[in-house]
Amino acid sequence: MKIQVLPLSLVAASLAGVLFAVTVPTIPWKTGDRSRPLPPKVDPGGATTAPSDAVVLFDGKDLSAWQQKNGQPAAWTVENGYFAVKPRSGDLVTKQAFGDAQMHIEWASPTPPRGKDQEPGNSGVYLQSLYEIQVLESNQNVTYPDGQAGAIYCQYPPLVNPSRPAGEWQTYDIIFHGPRFDSAGQLTRLATVTLLFNGVLAQDHTSPTGPTDYMKRPPYKPGPDKLPLLLQDHGQPVKYRNIWIRELK
Ligand code: MG
Repeated sequence: MKIQVLPLSLVAASLAGVLFAVTVPTIPWKTGDRSRPLPPKVDPGGATTAPSDAVVLFDGKDLSAWQQKNGQPAAWTVENGYFAVKPRSGDLVTKQAFGDAQMHIEWASPTPPRGKDQEPGNSGVYLQSLYEIQVLESNQNVTYPDGQAGAIYCQYPPLVNPSRPAGEWQTYDIIFHGPRFDSAGQLTRLATVTLLFNGVLAQDHTSPTGPTDYMKRPPYKPGPDKLPLLLQDHGQPVKYRNIWIRELK
């Protein structure tokens, strides 16, 4: 067998051709470049407090950041540092609209659990009011996989089920990037959702197939880049606390 000696640049190019099917971005700064702007300093907050650059959506006191979906004042119940779904009062939305964002939400399902399947502790965190991360008692209660806590409802089950027992506080840390549309309304970028459920990866850069619908998977529809966050009233007094959001530039 004849061993062919290729110029190093050609080897690199052919390796690049084989190994790198995507373009690796060029960093417009030298390594260790001290003229590169330092990242903004942020106080990370604590277990029950928000980072210093977050918009606090609930600090334990009032629902001033929220309103009913129909525009009426927020009717859900505030007590003892949390608020709870007031069954059949309707969904709650933030007054402010948000685009791509990191958010933190704590929730607790009612105890003792009432009902089964899609009933106990059903609520939901609707990213941009469109894409539901399911909230449900899923520690003991079993339902269809894409309908349990941490699922992108009716689309993707969570990777694992790190649910805590009913009544205990649970955390959703979410990184969301919304879809993009061109001027003709064509989808140019899928939405993505990363979810840490009680600190455990449950959605890994998952792309919803479109907005959430019950037992349906409708397509994306062109819309604004910023929309309110929505919490679902599914007839169960699910509790929420310590909610904050950091918009991503
Ligand atoms: Mg729900």
